[in-house]
Amino acid sequence: LVTRQSQEELLRVLSERKYTDTRGNTNEVSLVVVSMSPQPVLSLAARYKLSPDDAVKKLAGYFKSIGVDIVLDMTVAEDLCLLEAQQEFLQRYHEQQSDPTSKQLPMLSSSCPGWVCYAEKTHGNFILPYISSTKSSQQIMGALVKGEMSRRRGLAPAALYHVTLMPCYDKKLEASREDFYTELLSCHDVDCVVTAIELEQMLSNSGKSLCDVSEAELDAVWGGEAEAPGLRGHAGSGSGGFAHHVFLHAAEQLFGITDPTMVYKELRNPDFKELTLEREGQVLLRFAVANGFRNIQNLVTKLKRGKSPYHYVEVMACPSGCLNGGAQVRPSDGESGRELVSRLEAAYGALPRAQPARSHLASHIYHSLHGPGSDKVRAMLHTTYHAIQKDDIALNIKW
Ligand code: SF4
Repeated sequence: LVTRQSQEELLRVLSERKYTDTRGNTNEVSLVVVSMSPQPVLSLAARYKLSPDDAVKKLAGYFKSIGVDIVLDMTVAEDLCLLEAQQEFLQRYHEQQSDPTSKQLPMLSSSCPGWVCYAEKTHGNFILPYISSTKSSQQIMGALVKGEMSRRRGLAPAALYHVTLMPCYDKKLEASREDFYTELLSCHDVDCVVTAIELEQMLSNSGKSLCDVSEAELDAVWGGEAEAPGLRGHAGSGSGGFAHHVFLHAAEQLFGITDPTMVYKELRNPDFKELTLEREGQVLLRFAVANGFRNIQNLVTKLKRGKSPYHYVEVMACPSGCLNGGAQVRPSDGESGRELVSRLEAAYGALPRAQPARSHLASHIYHSLHGPGSDKVRAMLHTTYHAIQKDDIALNIKW
């Protein structure tokens, strides 16, 4: 994992144009594709005192200068991830209504590999039924790059070497999981993960500042783009807004309530927030956002005692979520970690807002995958989790 998921490996693949996958197959590389998630881009923008737009262009320019062929933002994968999570929640809600013993709820988000690995190792088979089957946006992006982009270009999926820019080391573990070897495509969704801090090291190793790099535009490769590529933020949290988007959709679809009041009530500490939908004094939906190990432990303890009141919980291992990921650039110039995260939260909140339900590109991709709910969508955008032995995998979480 350490070798396959390193900046050195990326540079080696760029020079040799071939790589060996986890199953020992050596593949010639026709295209190297980088997908950038917003949190590390904002971290690097803060580090080099650039605007988010300028940081995106500089990063695209940097990756192209070292030999990357295509640089993408991940908005379409984030949108599809939320749309799939919304559908999955409705399905689970109905199943729970018809069989209250079915362990469909609370649905627990699955986009944080730090949390998922912890759950698999520590709580095994008890917790798994509750964890969402929707892949994280990183893995959905991988399925799109390896599946859709290769198909459209007439290339074997394994001939695309897919790299992601991410906020934590746990995303490397996620990318390497056997669960994310898509059998339909005979390859992993993501071949290499580079973090914000590693990108800073790569620049520094070559004696460069991001400020000095020539700019390039992001690529538009899907054919259904209605707007120029670029970073987008999702309402609700800097980790992707899962609770927010699933809540809004469920309120409308299950109870006919559009535009509900969205008040996040802080409970116990700033990293545990609750969101309720009420009508005539009755709570219809109770959601939560739980960040950090302390809150996760409380959540699981309550669940085990049968005392969890929630329908859905957005669970993230890092306190303050992905903007505070373990491989984001460290604060400098006397700034505290908390102050830096506050700046990143403000920057994320100021990004143009993504609206998954109105995304032309998401509809376009769904159409290519034979529509929402199709077997192809199920195979490419969902996964399963399983209990693992404590020694099977090394956790990198900075609790
Ligand atoms: Fe990674 Fe932390 Fe985000 Fe989890 S919460 S995906 S560990 S950055």
